[in-house]
Amino acid sequence: MKLSFFGADQCVTGSCHCLEVNGKKILIDCGLQQGRDEIDNAALPFAPGSIDYVLITHAHIDHSGRVPMLIKQGFHGRIVTTRLTADLLSIMLADSAHIQESDAAYQNRKNERAGRPAVEPLYTVEDAMRLNQFLDTCEYGQTIELCEGVKATFIDAGHLLGSASIRLELTEDAEKRTVVFSGDIGNVDQPIIRDPQFFTDADYVVMESTYGDRNHTEVWSYTDELAQIIDETLGKGGNVVIPSFAVGRTQELLYFIREIKDKGLVKSVKDFPVYVDSPLAKAATTIFCGDLRGYLDDEARELVKDGTAMFSFPGLHLTETTDESKLLNMDTTPKVIISASGMCDAGRIRHHLKYNLWKPNCAVVFVGFQSPGTLGRTLLDGAEKVKMFGEDVAVRAKIVNFQGLSSHADHDHLMNWIGQFRDSHVQHVFVVHGDRDVAPLFAENVQRLGFAAHAPQYTEEYDLITCQQTARGYLPERKKVTFESGGGKTSQAYQRLLQMGDSLMALIRRSKGRDNKSLAAFAEAIKKLIERFDF
Ligand SMILES: [Zn+2]
Repeated sequence: MKLSFFGADQCVTGSCHCLEVNGKKILIDCGLQQGRDEIDNAALPFAPGSIDYVLITHAHIDHSGRVPMLIKQGFHGRIVTTRLTADLLSIMLADSAHIQESDAAYQNRKNERAGRPAVEPLYTVEDAMRLNQFLDTCEYGQTIELCEGVKATFIDAGHLLGSASIRLELTEDAEKRTVVFSGDIGNVDQPIIRDPQFFTDADYVVMESTYGDRNHTEVWSYTDELAQIIDETLGKGGNVVIPSFAVGRTQELLYFIREIKDKGLVKSVKDFPVYVDSPLAKAATTIFCGDLRGYLDDEARELVKDGTAMFSFPGLHLTETTDESKLLNMDTTPKVIISASGMCDAGRIRHHLKYNLWKPNCAVVFVGFQSPGTLGRTLLDGAEKVKMFGEDVAVRAKIVNFQGLSSHADHDHLMNWIGQFRDSHVQHVFVVHGDRDVAPLFAENVQRLGFAAHAPQYTEEYDLITCQQTARGYLPERKKVTFESGGGKTSQAYQRLLQMGDSLMALIRRSKGRDNKSLAAFAEAIKKLIERFDF
């Protein structure tokens, strides 16, 4: 009985873990490595044909994106996930395949000109479409027997529609072990979906730690804040451009905007138009409008019961073709445009930014985490101009960081999640899915609760019967991510100042619970610092 770590080890993408029991190999997630985590997605540390089962915690590409590649390379086992994750996978993996194909086509045009050999896409839309032949679905709370000696139970992880934490009960030669995989743990009080549910009993826990180093800031009311930005911007005749992930976050935004419209919170332009400009977002919204029984929180369930369409309202347009998308830039009516990608590094959002960033009456509203190195982060960091499609674009629009929307549990909620196992007989906690400077520190926090814990490295291996490490792993070299930022890049000194600001904020959060005298002295010192440098 063995557990191996094949992805999201001291990084936040490419989630993949492997259990071996009774001669069967079971993968938990098989995600794509993205951004600066990317090593070589085509290289797998196991033979796809040797895998018997793939259990998928949720549809995000960093947890599911290499499944079509497994299929392409000879996987012939079964894929098990919840019903709604299966629905989302079918559109998200097709979209991912489409990106793989266009990336390869772009690379091949360059290769041809340079006389280099052609590259193959990681997988094609056709490979992704074959997914259905391998899929078995389950509902939350249902325990299924995968094979002899292996039972699996999925519960709601509250992170994305259909998302799950998975418990595996393993029996081998009369030895029994229970392993819980957290998947991505959701934030509390998110619209539409429920709060994360808990397992409380396990021998081993594999848990995520994305936000293991911080707590989310509190926001009073998403609808009020969003309404205010929309009201103000449309009132000036400008557009509100919202870069957003197509699946999950876009539907949350539609949920809020429906509420804003229902309550009449935007006075400047009544019945303002809202464009969702992303074919994937359109397909996902259709799934979010389907049969969600067993997947909704109480409020959303009440709305649906009343016959309210959660994601539709007068003035909503879901665009599909690129022609429709281009027409949006010709139309001068003040409007809200929601488009992907969420971090502005690809997709139609880049066109909308090009047409709106330079206009002082427009606003760009960020509603999700922006990774270092992305265009989104550069804009948030105050760039005065950016280079897009070979042109300099001045940044005159209002840049708003709409904080508080997060689909991940923060530090305190992660601690609460693992704290549920306090009365159990956990032998070890493996902390994964957190950056190199986050996962090991979070593992130390988990140790303080009395658990043995650490952040494993890539290809590390454990014997679950003896609780012994049987192979050491390593931390792979990261790919350097670059993007077109041109003259708009902020200075190194300013970058350093921002970093120090983040460290200060982290220290403030860690100070919670210190004695009042120290807190007051700390606050006074910060006040003096602000007075000294406020020009
Ligand atoms: Zn996720």
